[in-house]
Amino acid sequence: MGEHDDEQLHASQRDALLAAGLLRPSGVDGVYGLSSELAGVVAGVDGLISAAGHDQGAERVDFPPVMAMSSIEATGYMQGFPHLLGVVRTFEGGQAEHRGLLDALDAGGDWGSKLSRTGLALCPAVCHPLYATLTGTLPPGGRRFDLCGYAFRHEPSSDPARLQAFRMHEYVFVGEEPGANAHRELWHARGAELLSSLGLEVTVDVANDPFFGRAGTALAALQLEEGLKHEILAPTSGATALTALASTNRHRDHFATVFEIMASDGAPAHSTCCGFGLERIALALVWRYGTSPRTWPHRVRTLLGR
Ligand code: ATP
Ligand code: ZN
Repeated sequence: MGEHDDEQLHASQRDALLAAGLLRPSGVDGVYGLSSELAGVVAGVDGLISAAGHDQGAERVDFPPVMAMSSIEATGYMQGFPHLLGVVRTFEGGQAEHRGLLDALDAGGDWGSKLSRTGLALCPAVCHPLYATLTGTLPPGGRRFDLCGYAFRHEPSSDPARLQAFRMHEYVFVGEEPGANAHRELWHARGAELLSSLGLEVTVDVANDPFFGRAGTALAALQLEEGLKHEILAPTSGATALTALASTNRHRDHFATVFEIMASDGAPAHSTCCGFGLERIALALVWRYGTSPRTWPHRVRTLLGR
């Protein structure tokens, strides 16, 4: 089966989810409302992930879904992923400029140029706002964080598991290099165990991010070669390509160098995050057990607190 078949299988699963009322259409691919049943599954999955991290002593921080554009610029996200980033703009003109905006709107022209930058971008991952808050020296053993929120990526698709706005629950470590490596091992194993406990047939693999352009191809190859990203995958439709339900990312000292975060030994800190995609896990469960969560196996419903 080729990519084209996969696309059709994704689209037919999207249509089934819309017909069952689990997803509500917005008119835009990858942006949906969730029914209360599906939202309940997402909440149950989130609770399980929280429970899996209870022993970590992780600090919970809630960031909004927007972050400082200056942080995005500093970390090189615009170099690597300009095609995924959402930037926030607004109107800052006076009466005359407003007239110009309305004229452009009426003419169906380019009104985007009438808006000004706000200094904000939509968070592309929920750990990205964290690092700018950590400038300084970390305690021995580093710090662990528990983050959950919305991420935005401009990757419209007929695949209902490839959303433009979605929730990630991440466990992040920032500190000495061995601690960062251990965090990856721990969460890769825990993530696979957690998802398997729900009856999902998971596969693990090394992966790369979709870096932009020709320079990006080399970066992606390097990322693969150095095993910096691992994914835990499962089916979310009849397509042959599996979907990443969770990923671990080792950033090495990338964020620490940008934001001057030192480990207790004075060296730039290393960071690692493990991100669970909440809607994707819920959709993998729907694919596995059907579109009526009330009829799912008792064991699964109990785990989800339903
Ligand atoms: P993919 O390879 O499918 O684009 P990813 O591995 O690059 O995803 P990360 O950037 O590591 O994703 O994000 C962490 C988690 O967030 C992923 O494992 C996935 O579960 C979820 N996620 C990523 N992109 C999306 C998306 N477009 N829609 C829904 N969930 C997503
Ligand atoms: Zn992250």
